[in-house]
Amino acid sequence: MPDSPRPIPRVLGIAIPSPLRRLFDYLPAGPAPSDGWQPGLRVRVPFGRRQVVGVVIECRDASELPLSNLKPIDARLDDTPLPEDWLWLCRFTARYYQHGIGDTLHHAMPALLRQGRALTARTREHWSVTEAGHADAPSGLERAPRQAELLSMLRQHPHGLVTQAVLAQSFTREQLKALVSKGLIECHEQPVTGGEAPKGPSLAEPALPLNGEQAAAMGALHEGLDAFHPCLLHGVTGSGKTEVYLQLIEAVVGRQRQALVLVPEIGLTPQTLERFRKRFQVPVVALHSGLTDHERLDAWEAAANGRAPIVIGTRSAIFTPLARPGAIIVDEEHDGSFKQQEGLRYHARDLAVIRAHRHGIPIVLGSATPSLESLHRARAGDYRHLRLTRRASRHAPARLELVDLRGRPRKGGLIAPVLDAIKTTLNAGHQVLVFINRRGFAPTLACHACGWLAECTHCDAHMTLHRQPPLLACHHCDHRRGLPDACPDCGSADLRPLGSGTERTEETLAERFPDIPVHRIDRDSTRRRDALERTLGEVRRGEPCLLVGTQMLAKGHHLPHVNLVIVVNADAGLYASDFRALEHSAQLLEQVAGRAGRSSHPGRVLVQTLHPDDPNLRLLAARGYDALAEQLLEERRAASLPPFRFLALLRLESPRESDVNALGERVAEATREHIEQRGLEVDCLGPVPAPMERRQNRYHMQVMLGADKRSRLHEAGAWLIAWLEAEPAARRVRWSLDIDPQTL
Ligand code: ADP
Ligand code: ZN
Ligand code: ZN
Repeated sequence: MPDSPRPIPRVLGIAIPSPLRRLFDYLPAGPAPSDGWQPGLRVRVPFGRRQVVGVVIECRDASELPLSNLKPIDARLDDTPLPEDWLWLCRFTARYYQHGIGDTLHHAMPALLRQGRALTARTREHWSVTEAGHADAPSGLERAPRQAELLSMLRQHPHGLVTQAVLAQSFTREQLKALVSKGLIECHEQPVTGGEAPKGPSLAEPALPLNGEQAAAMGALHEGLDAFHPCLLHGVTGSGKTEVYLQLIEAVVGRQRQALVLVPEIGLTPQTLERFRKRFQVPVVALHSGLTDHERLDAWEAAANGRAPIVIGTRSAIFTPLARPGAIIVDEEHDGSFKQQEGLRYHARDLAVIRAHRHGIPIVLGSATPSLESLHRARAGDYRHLRLTRRASRHAPARLELVDLRGRPRKGGLIAPVLDAIKTTLNAGHQVLVFINRRGFAPTLACHACGWLAECTHCDAHMTLHRQPPLLACHHCDHRRGLPDACPDCGSADLRPLGSGTERTEETLAERFPDIPVHRIDRDSTRRRDALERTLGEVRRGEPCLLVGTQMLAKGHHLPHVNLVIVVNADAGLYASDFRALEHSAQLLEQVAGRAGRSSHPGRVLVQTLHPDDPNLRLLAARGYDALAEQLLEERRAASLPPFRFLALLRLESPRESDVNALGERVAEATREHIEQRGLEVDCLGPVPAPMERRQNRYHMQVMLGADKRSRLHEAGAWLIAWLEAEPAARRVRWSLDIDPQTL
């Protein structure tokens, strides 16, 4: 059917970055786009006293306001709309997370698009040899030796070279132009990103022959390449999940489709990227925080135009448009970094499943320690459950050995038998990893005369003692102050560190093992971008050494020579108020344990605890994460908690305690009344103070909604938001609704 020209609408409903959850109406102006006005076109509009970039969402003939009250747009910025799949995902996200569409779109587009730049790729000149230039003795170079050298250099680069690379070899632009005029080379403009795709086979290095379990998983994936086909790839660390991803991507790329790979924030290491880049000839476009705004736009454009066959990135990469989507992979799907914890509080893994469903493509959620949500869906048959139980190396993952801390003196957090085990391992020529989830020297500073503890003046939290440099720092608000000479309460000079952090453990180990290098890996020691990679590179050489680190060390890194893993304290998640704390803590312990014995030696994992009889910890130690997860799922079912129930958390915060308390009471009361009147099957709990009530001098309260049906929860959430938007007292309080909250 031939397209009939679209009539020019009288009103444009435009999404504008503002907290208000609605569109703003404007009149179209200027020349209409060649395809007519459509959703997805960016415009510049007057908004209050500013000019802002907005996106057309609706083209209508009417407005709730008289047309004479509407302003015309200032300018249209696009001739063709932003990608349709992207716009769809943003609209879904705004609806599902009950967030303003303008703010959602704003969040989901590269900075340069937000500023009104055109969606075009930067290009650069690319020089390659013509057929005439490949002839045995090209003519016209007899008296031009530098040109002859340039030609022979270019002949060694079948895919051509960019200008910069040519000039870097001390050739000149004039020499290039001379060769072009002689017909020996030619110049093409190629996009900076995704322009280098050669035509040959897509594999640069052969795939590994799969073991039986991997082959079974691959077979299952091959069955569903053209359909929505959600799979949980559940395999212990080192069982070859990444190899399965690589081979799935190979199949997808071979069908001229694109693969989108999401990895945790901590997982997009040069090592991971290199593994993808080494395997494929086609470009692997990485989206990470180190990109410039221009590079990000280039990558986005290459993905939207299908020039990027493989896109790999962290959470926000879920909003990358794809011209020819073929598969989505979420590695370490249980990882907390997939959930954005402020503003637009989306979960990239959950959006990935929705997106795969919409595109009708397979999605693989991979993990050694799947989230209870994904396990539940796999058990219910919504996801295909693919298991990899064997490690590619022969050794089974090490079991956790619980070590009783009670009544034993600690040094740098470690007790004597554990220090002995470290010594034995080092003497045998192996490496040791000491995991401690607190950076700094000690969790706080204490007065031994009166019991005073260093507290943050802005938060309900202790200040962490640091030695390098010496200061007290609050890890919640970044407030810092110098070390006091005496106790501010009683004047005693007997101030001592309480407990251990990475710096203290590092110091203890360095004193104890003076001949062995000790590497500390935490946020403080790796502020410089390459510091972590440099240290890990040294560790991978295999000399005996000690690694002391936070969870930066626990995830993703392949450390083949680590043979003993020490967990300094396993107790953090055991008795926390957050019902997910135990799940997260078990995942972390299992991930840390997965670092041990990945190569030729079986490893040991020693877990220090004050609760060696805790049934959950014992189950984890004796039977592993899967067994504990089964039990936690039963407990969640019995207690009616996610994944058996859906939650939304209203977060309220204000510098004035009385304001948030009053609003919390009123909103909870109004919601309960509404629920009762309407007979909605929704619970409303609270208000209760947030776990850390005062943070950065702001008071935090929360109200929880729970329902067995998602639609009911969303209904109640929408009502709640409408109530808050209409409530004058809510203007003095910052509030947000967190759908499917991951932390309380
Ligand atoms: P995971 O992603 O599950 O942690 P990897 O894919 O990183 O596991 O595999 C762990 C190690 O085993 C890697 O060094 C990888 O090269 C190797 N490996 C994976 N699959 C195979 C296979 N089929 N044959 C031989 N080695 C393999
Ligand atoms: Zn004191
Ligand atoms: Zn603080």
